[in-house]
Amino acid sequence: MSAAALTVPATAAERTNLLGLPRRELEAFVAQLGSKPFRARQLMNWMYKRGVGSFAEMTDLAKALRERLGAEAEVRAPEILTVRRSADGTLKWLLKADASQAFEMVFIPEPDRGTLCISSQVGCALDCSFCATAQQGFNRNLSTAEIVGQVWLAERELGREARGQADAPGAAAGAAGDERRVTNVVLMGMGEPLANFRNVVPALSIFLDDFGFDLSRRRVTLSTSGLVPQIYRLAEVSNVALAVSLHAPDDALRNELVPINRKHPIAELLEACWHYLDSRHGRSVTFEYVMLEGVNDSPTQALEVARLLRGHPAKVNLIPFNPFPGTRYRRSPAHQIQRFRDVLLRHGVLATVRRTRGDDIDAACGQLAGRVIDRTTVRLGSKVIGVAVHP
Ligand code: SAH
Repeated sequence: MSAAALTVPATAAERTNLLGLPRRELEAFVAQLGSKPFRARQLMNWMYKRGVGSFAEMTDLAKALRERLGAEAEVRAPEILTVRRSADGTLKWLLKADASQAFEMVFIPEPDRGTLCISSQVGCALDCSFCATAQQGFNRNLSTAEIVGQVWLAERELGREARGQADAPGAAAGAAGDERRVTNVVLMGMGEPLANFRNVVPALSIFLDDFGFDLSRRRVTLSTSGLVPQIYRLAEVSNVALAVSLHAPDDALRNELVPINRKHPIAELLEACWHYLDSRHGRSVTFEYVMLEGVNDSPTQALEVARLLRGHPAKVNLIPFNPFPGTRYRRSPAHQIQRFRDVLLRHGVLATVRRTRGDDIDAACGQLAGRVIDRTTVRLGSKVIGVAVHP
């Protein structure tokens, strides 16, 4: 009788989801199954380079190992509840967290790149006053497998779609081959990534690993509202690009917009940012600044932002506010945003205006709410596929 036949198959809940294991841990897992650690690299090649999730298809692995993996492990991405496509090509997926909760990821195609905006938590505890996710409160942290699984799933779905088009009558033969569709990953979806440090950091290492998604550190961006102690910790273990939600030039206003500022005020936050760059040899920190009409968008405030950042390796990304039901804020008019940018530029601070994408499907920054309209349907466990978001 073979060793595999003696293995009692694990239930789904007990199986180890390999999407949650960075290379070292995967090596240890494979070793524990009685195989050589280098098999982990072969496995990762199947999972991340070829998008294969079924062990039976991993034909260069020994049959015994495939059987052990089949009994004790799985490659499981989050389940898709719905997908919506914006007029501008942006795609938003609503993904299942549990029977009654969901989270979102957004793909933004551009001619020279494809950016996937992923979530790190279901909901968020930080309560920024202008953010839709804040309204739902905090539900739970996503696991490493759920964070990595978003990128894995997007690659699979986008690849499938591209192949579908290539197979369509009249399409160029051989088009849409194996090239990567997700070229950039931003942790700018739901949640505060640094509040889920333990699960986010291993995910970052899988994104950067040559045997994982093999993305360059400049193409993976972690956006934080300003959890200062965790920025110092991140500097010790990762070197991805850092984006920081500034949104106000002074503590009084930032306390109101980004309440974590009461704990970690602007001066402390900026210190942590410069430390991060120094220790990781980073080029610059991107400061996000949401443009709220009559709140933080005056030329005087632009000048104050310039004073904070001038002389430092900083870029400012001005985000036109994206409204959502119930918000008390309005988007600054375009000319006001231009003026703000011009003041920054004139005072020696690099600044750009973020183009809003996907706003017709509530996929723009700060609009992700993971809303499942018919929650009862989901909770009762009837078929969740096809549940509508924001009709
Ligand atoms: N928690 C992280 C990631 C959040 S989302 C952070 O705070 O950085 C990414 C960016 O979208 C943040 O800068 C966030 O402040 C911004 N944002 C939130 N709500 C928004 C809205 N309604 N319109 C425009 N940008 C918004």
